Amino acid sequence: AEAEIAAARVAAPAAVAAAGQLAMLEAHNISAWFGDHKVLDHVSLTMEAGQVTALIGPSGCGKSTFLRILNRMHELVPTASLAGEVLIDGQDIYDASKKLTDARRAIGMVFQKPNPFPAMSIYDNVIAGLKLTGIRASRDEKDMLVESSLIRAGLWKEVKDRLRNPGGGLSGGQQQRLCIARSLAVQPRVLLMDEPCSALDPTSTRVIEETMIELQKEVTIVIVTHNMQQAQRVSQNCAFFLASQGTPGVIVEHGETEAMFSEPQDERTFDYVNGRF
Ligand code: ADP
Ligand code: MG
Repeated sequence: AEAEIAAARVAAPAAVAAAGQLAMLEAHNISAWFGDHKVLDHVSLTMEAGQVTALIGPSGCGKSTFLRILNRMHELVPTASLAGEVLIDGQDIYDASKKLTDARRAIGMVFQKPNPFPAMSIYDNVIAGLKLTGIRASRDEKDMLVESSLIRAGLWKEVKDRLRNPGGGLSGGQQQRLCIARSLAVQPRVLLMDEPCSALDPTSTRVIEETMIELQKEVTIVIVTHNMQQAQRVSQNCAFFLASQGTPGVIVEHGETEAMFSEPQDERTFDYVNGRF
């Protein structure tokens, strides 16, 4: 598969092929509000290039909000506001002189509920992001991108003979891998995944975990998960978010996943990773 992927890369449109380099993502002093309700307070985190960072913590502590801030989706909510900085390889993604579509293309997102366009073909689903982010591609280039993206998402073998079938006809796990392929087609440098497996059965979950482990060689991954075993299986780094008694979310502790699970420094982390709340 590696050789096929390399070949497909070479044949990809120049704008896309050049984009696929590993990037580091840094959040500095992120605070966030919905109206007057402050939901994150001075959250800082470095997400290392080529690693998987897991964001864990109870519901409502701001993990999804933080993830959406990392690719400028927070600003889609009319009441939302934000302070702080997000840097991709040192470049401010909120820089007013840069195009929003550039930030969104460099930093892809996969959601909890698989959301392919159900009536659209598998093929067209994979390349749906090209137009949105202003990438032109010839027919051959599109064919190569569809193939390489589906290979990388671990779905190619299952769908290569029915690329013209609607995306909505796939199983839940396949639909989620189709969404991963759609994200990958624009060659993002960072992939954000918000509980990507929590709507899936254990078998599909394992397939997606294996896909993530392969993908981290080429894209920096940030995953929100409630599954502590999953965090330990897929991530090298981990951040524990907490919002206690109506206070905004903060990172209580972050560091290497193994150390956080085996010797948490904070009692609240210990309680959380051991399922005590
Ligand atoms: P998590 O992903 O950790 O469960 P969220 O980021 O979804 O947490 O939510 C953090 C807080 O922000 C919660 O109090 C939630 O109710 C609030 N919130 C999230 N989205 C919105 C929104 N669109 N409008 C208003 N409040 C929101
Ligand atoms: Mg969430």
